[in-house]
Amino acid sequence: MTNPVSSPARLTDIERIELFKRIFIYHGAIPGETVTDFFSEADRIRIVPLIFGLMPSRAVHRLSRDTLVKPLIVEHLRELGIKSDDHLLVTVLKEIADQLYFTSGQRPVRRKMGIADLRMTRMSMYKALRQRQAERCSLCGVPLKDAEEHLDHRIPFRLLGDIAKGTNWQLLCNDCNVGKSSWLSALQPSVAQNWLYGDLDMEDLNHFDNENSYLGLTARYCVLAQRKSCTYPGCGNGVKDSQLRLKLRLPSALPVVDHFEVRCQEHFYATASSV
Ligand SMILES: [Zn+2]
Ligand SMILES: [Zn+2]
Repeated sequence: MTNPVSSPARLTDIERIELFKRIFIYHGAIPGETVTDFFSEADRIRIVPLIFGLMPSRAVHRLSRDTLVKPLIVEHLRELGIKSDDHLLVTVLKEIADQLYFTSGQRPVRRKMGIADLRMTRMSMYKALRQRQAERCSLCGVPLKDAEEHLDHRIPFRLLGDIAKGTNWQLLCNDCNVGKSSWLSALQPSVAQNWLYGDLDMEDLNHFDNENSYLGLTARYCVLAQRKSCTYPGCGNGVKDSQLRLKLRLPSALPVVDHFEVRCQEHFYATASSV
């Protein structure tokens, strides 16, 4: 396997710590709190990995279940020289610490929900999710009725978990789910940097419609998560409008991320190239 590209997250950047708090609230970390921001794939890889620097070890490796976590967090933030009286930041960190703690060990208390659990126990939420995505995979737009559906956690389950409001969930088809794997962001795998290595990428080949070209599901995921809409000039169809597929820009090129265009159903065979 490839090593993930190391995160550029640094603890000294105050602005990023504010964004850290907001990105977790955006995905539903604190019931009742919302933010109006939008976060991109680039934000996710830039900001979310701060978690392991901000988390005191004793909040995760607890002496007992009754350990008081917030004082540990406040103390750790103070040690780091970060403003420690930010109630929301401390609460976000406490929620993440609890999730890490209650999902660890041999018998985790919290178990990850899958698509079957959602259908069985939260049918109205399942329907709402499908509606939010216009009945299509949220990454490639394949109609969900034609696909094997998976429940994906946008921020990994071990960090944020199953948020009742559905803010951390999306429905993905099988190809997108396999392509995403456990990556935090589409920018994390090395194929996102156009990096292919040995026969590693050959194991993951997935033949697709574009003659003589192929790409791994990880690369496919990287392209779709970053481009999000048809790249045919003037089109802009997104995943709620159409199924998006990838097309190699140059027949002579290796299947690296930057060489792919994204096309909706209507423009898949059109020849004009995006700039
Ligand atoms: Zn998909
Ligand atoms: Zn199009």
